[in-house]
Amino acid sequence: MKKISLLGATGSIGIQTLDVIAAHPEEFKLVAMSFGSNYKSGSEIIKKFKPQFVAVKDKETYDHLKQELSGESVKIGYGQEALIEAAVFDGVEILVNAVVGSVGLIPTLKAIENKITIALANKETLVTAGHLVTEHAKKYNVDILPVDSEHSAIFQCLQGENVKSIERLIVTASGGSFRDKKREELVDVTVEQALNHPNWSMGAKITIDSATMMNKGLEVIEAHWLFNMPYEKIDVLLHKESIIHSLVEFHDRSIIAQLGSPDMRVPIQYALTYPERLSLPEVKGLELWEVGKLHFEKADFNRFRCLQFAFDSGKIGGTMPTVLNAANEEAVAAFLKGSIKFLQIEEFIERAMDKHVCIAQPGLEQIQEVDQRTRKFVQTLIS
Ligand code: NDP
Ligand code: MG
Repeated sequence: MKKISLLGATGSIGIQTLDVIAAHPEEFKLVAMSFGSNYKSGSEIIKKFKPQFVAVKDKETYDHLKQELSGESVKIGYGQEALIEAAVFDGVEILVNAVVGSVGLIPTLKAIENKITIALANKETLVTAGHLVTEHAKKYNVDILPVDSEHSAIFQCLQGENVKSIERLIVTASGGSFRDKKREELVDVTVEQALNHPNWSMGAKITIDSATMMNKGLEVIEAHWLFNMPYEKIDVLLHKESIIHSLVEFHDRSIIAQLGSPDMRVPIQYALTYPERLSLPEVKGLELWEVGKLHFEKADFNRFRCLQFAFDSGKIGGTMPTVLNAANEEAVAAFLKGSIKFLQIEEFIERAMDKHVCIAQPGLEQIQEVDQRTRKFVQTLIS
């Protein structure tokens, strides 16, 4: 029985993680969890899964949740300290980090210090401070197992392989909600249109990131850190069916790919059971004759400028990816609120990166300081 802590339990990845846990009650036990402010959904999860500890975002949510749960014996906390307490709760063996945004960084670092295996969905953590997270994982000899479908695919392709034989990683991209639109057509797109992803049902932030292709950019940086791969050896390939989740090319020009129905429960479960595999009866098997055709296109870096920014920031390194991530988080939140237009997301990221004087090899405090400064800068652009 593996004891699990789940951060972001009420989200898209959180709920699918709970599906996996519920499908194998003899294998997994949820001992701690967190969510932001959705106490209605949170209290239902708590009643069903009976974790011992729950962290919520703020005092207001804490008060609401206490009322909902009168009679339940569960310890509740709020704020950053509680989020950390949930991550490292007594006996936790695997932390599934499925919060959205760089708020996931400190809990991940603390869990690593406590020798807890990390199942990482929260890609912003690796983008904002990849060197700190990977150095920490090495120092404490802790595995970081990818939940993101592309990285899970690459990880699966690499089983039994020598990483020194890798020629390149090929990260596939669906292209998001606007993949068939020209750049000129993006000027007046709405939030509702951007949230309508053709293949995946996900949280709002990552769905917008998919529409701008920043999601793929963040994933390139995530792949750089997870697989210790230079940016020159990471390619992005447009593949609109989301059937091939990514590929690895080796020196002998052999390419290994991982395929499956687009269902996040597969990579989530693989991270929880690795190196074993368990059945997942609810997931639809893949019949390639039903799919018929698979399509591939070269990624266009002028059309999807965020992808270019991500490669640029990754290659510059230091605090530049922190700026990319923080500017993106603020701009996407503003777009979702209707305060800015779609193309202003990339404009504000570019301006934040242009203005930034990069710090090489930043420590945690410098990263947090740059993150806050970038957010303030983008907020002034927004207002
Ligand atoms: P959602 O927006 O659906 O869920 C986010 C979760 O985080 C919710 O439980 C939310 O709580 C909680 N949360 C938000 N802010 C805070 C905060 N300040 N403190 C504590 N908890 C907070 O996101 P997704 O599940 O879509 O994505 C989660 C992560 O996984 C992201 O990093 C994303 O990039 C990554 N990912 C997601 C995929 C997907 O298919 N959805 C695929 C691959 C990666 P509340 O509900 O109360 O707001
Ligand atoms: Mg992905």
